[in-house]
Amino acid sequence: MGERKYGSEFGFQTRAVHTGNDVDKDSGAIKRPITMANSYELPYDPTDINWSSSDRSLYTRNGGTNQKYLEEKIASFEGSEDCIVLASGVAALSGLFFALLETGDHVVFSNVTYVAAYRLLNELLNNKFKVETTIIDTTDLEAVKAAVRPNTKLIHIETPGNPTIAISDIKAIAKLAHDNGSLLSVDNTFASPYNQRPIELGADFSVESLTKFINGHGDAMGGAIAGKKESLDEIRFQSQVNLGGTISPFNAWLIMRGAVTFPLRMKQHNENAMTVAKFLENLECVSFVAYPGLQSNKGHDIAKEQMNEGYGGVLSFGLKADQNICNEFVSHLRIVTSAVSLGHDESLIVYLGENDERQYLYPDEFHHGFFRFSLGIEDVSDIIADLKQAIAKIALD
Ligand code: PLP
Repeated sequence: MGERKYGSEFGFQTRAVHTGNDVDKDSGAIKRPITMANSYELPYDPTDINWSSSDRSLYTRNGGTNQKYLEEKIASFEGSEDCIVLASGVAALSGLFFALLETGDHVVFSNVTYVAAYRLLNELLNNKFKVETTIIDTTDLEAVKAAVRPNTKLIHIETPGNPTIAISDIKAIAKLAHDNGSLLSVDNTFASPYNQRPIELGADFSVESLTKFINGHGDAMGGAIAGKKESLDEIRFQSQVNLGGTISPFNAWLIMRGAVTFPLRMKQHNENAMTVAKFLENLECVSFVAYPGLQSNKGHDIAKEQMNEGYGGVLSFGLKADQNICNEFVSHLRIVTSAVSLGHDESLIVYLGENDERQYLYPDEFHHGFFRFSLGIEDVSDIIADLKQAIAKIALD
């Protein structure tokens, strides 16, 4: 049988199952194996080899076969020409920023981004390498317009943003960036490519943590940068060969396996988050719920435009209670686990208190402590029953 390719004529679920997989030529196995070897055999005369290249199997830090299979699948999910898969979401963010930016460049980025993106741009690149940064509320297009400068190389947004779930308009910001000669990168971790494909909306790069929804089982780390092949070649070289952020073959294989059921799981994450957001919104003891699927959410109309299938599996909410009571509430939960991360099969909750280092950037309702809640794929009736029994045990005003 010839090599099988699964292009965009196939549906998302079919590509999730088949893309990147093929019959193993040596054994006839219908799943490709994990290749753990660090090195690959050289030709008779190796002197012409470009030792820095990722184009041929050479050394695992340059890129390995399991990574390449996964890259094919993620590029297909993101609707992008090419993709680089790295060791973590942060390896993807740092690979992108370090490869693109140089001293004197300016970056505009969203006031709600994953904390490592904030530190990479605003502390490391700004302090050590004199990359100029402006942090703004990217839900406000006029603010983005006012922030760009002639030397703005990159606009980086996260939508929905971590942890306030704020929605930024990808299409409008892409146009604004390109009119100024700048690039747009979008952290797509919270939405996932099942719900939102930034490249199709005009972004230059879609960056994400594969650790979350795409792997989905909470047992492997990975990250990806999707975009055009031409722009990714240099980023691949820097992020893997020089920065060393290469993914392990085993993790690439695990994520490949998790990704097969990604669209099925994502449907359940979307549905559970929507149901729980509506449930929480109607509780007297809840001070606010941030979820773009709710009609009451400020970003709802834009989210409806740019998120195709659903509004994602993460929401944030507040309780009308102090820090002690909030911690006590979490301690009573039996199905929902108190842990960081998101997009796992199980529901995860984290209480973010008043001393979060970026508190000053969040809207007022987030200032008194809040919960970031990643809905798993359990029966939603059990999740709601768990929340109800935990609320019943705490003393609320
Ligand atoms: N981007 C977002 C939005 C995240 O929430 C996270 C982690 O929580 C990351 C990137 C980093 O991903 P990783 O933990 O795989 O490095």
